[in-house]
Amino acid sequence: MKPLLIPYPKQIGFSAGAPLLPADAPVTFTYAPGLGEEAYVLKTANGAVNVTASAGAGRFYAEQTLMQLSAAGGLREGLDIHDAPAFSYRGFMIDCCRHFYGVPELKRLIDAAARFKLNRFHWHLTDDQGWRIEIKKYPLLTEVGSKRSGSRFGGVNEGKPHGGFFTQTEIREVADYCAARHIEVIPEIEMPGHFTAAISAYPFLGCTGEPMEPVQKEGIYPNVLCVGSDEAVSFMKDVLGEVCALFPGRYVHIGGDEAPRKRWQACEKCAARMKRLGLADYDALQGSFIEEIAAFLREKGKTAITWNESLRGGCLSPENVIVQRWMDRDNLCADFTKRGGSVIESDFYHYYFDYPYGMTPLRKAFTYDPAEKTGAQGILGVEGALWTEYVRSFHDLCQKLFPRLLAVAERGWSGAPGRSYADFTAAVQALLPLLGEGVAPMLPPDRWDPGMRRRLKEVASFFKGPLSADTLRQLLENRE
Ligand SMILES: [Zn+2]
Repeated sequence: MKPLLIPYPKQIGFSAGAPLLPADAPVTFTYAPGLGEEAYVLKTANGAVNVTASAGAGRFYAEQTLMQLSAAGGLREGLDIHDAPAFSYRGFMIDCCRHFYGVPELKRLIDAAARFKLNRFHWHLTDDQGWRIEIKKYPLLTEVGSKRSGSRFGGVNEGKPHGGFFTQTEIREVADYCAARHIEVIPEIEMPGHFTAAISAYPFLGCTGEPMEPVQKEGIYPNVLCVGSDEAVSFMKDVLGEVCALFPGRYVHIGGDEAPRKRWQACEKCAARMKRLGLADYDALQGSFIEEIAAFLREKGKTAITWNESLRGGCLSPENVIVQRWMDRDNLCADFTKRGGSVIESDFYHYYFDYPYGMTPLRKAFTYDPAEKTGAQGILGVEGALWTEYVRSFHDLCQKLFPRLLAVAERGWSGAPGRSYADFTAAVQALLPLLGEGVAPMLPPDRWDPGMRRRLKEVASFFKGPLSADTLRQLLENRE
């Protein structure tokens, strides 16, 4: 049997029947910076373990491999692992806006992710339903924008107010916690869409100046940032200035998805910006705003990441932004990578884990090739996303995320699959306890890949009622 490891190493020599090493076998570490930051070599011989790696992530990953081997059957003589990741970006995204999950829960997820060599935590911090990050210059963002009087996602009335936010002290605590586990945190501050909570706190941020409240349901709302207002754009830069100072990493995600044009179409300030910059349409208006913000971040030493919708403006420079692809009907990401751009692959049909296993079975996530829709060129890495409109408990969050996130961890590290799906699921079952306290138990294995009858049932019940044959086919066959 193959060693039960996730992700499976790039190159591994072993002899299945070789004698076991004692549990207290000595581990010798040799420092080798030339090997690559995340690479390591791990060998066993004569009752001892020898690790060669950088002092940073490489050593940490060798330790995770050792921990996994110890947890699943023990270490055997003659092991010879030469390991390094295929992709430098191996991420997971948690939406703390639709339902708030706090520092203790996040730490458990970060621990679990680190054990499987994921290295990016994409932290979704602002949305229509709640603003979750303290900004010193604008205290109302959290005083007003982090609270809503109810929750009615999917027609379920939760019957109580909902709120919560992270203080800057907590943000630093989480960033430090991640850094100790070689995970870079990427904050996401959504703009110009998904902006209702911010406008609730400061109505001048919207085109109409009208007061409103954070939203209680799922959906796409017309309450976007007034990109024609100098005050609103300055506000955004002030917020990002604090965000840049708080987060030690290289990236800031600025959203850029699902921004309806309705308010801009009726706004004199937005019309004036279009005229001043000679912009042909509202896609170009969004594109020019995203470019301005990306340039601002660049001055601060950060690179902006946006969802793929921002490519519609046609003016994003591959040097200034990284694009995260989730659904791209016009295949703009492929053009972007041909121009030299980098794309993070989070395909809606394979890597969005808020949907039931009936829609996105584990096998489907495991077999997805990140080059399938954009091409191999320019793929920076992979990310599994968990939105929380319909995720009302941490237990449910964990069951939706795991084990599917492990398929992302495997693909992000291995590139091409290095073993069969059956071998992968055997490893998942063996390593389940490593998910840690409060994260396990996962759903039983027979729920990870339900049969067609159960898939149809789960999808119909998730989307509340019978779906047309065409919609079902689209969901089950991943047509965009
Ligand atoms: Zn406007």
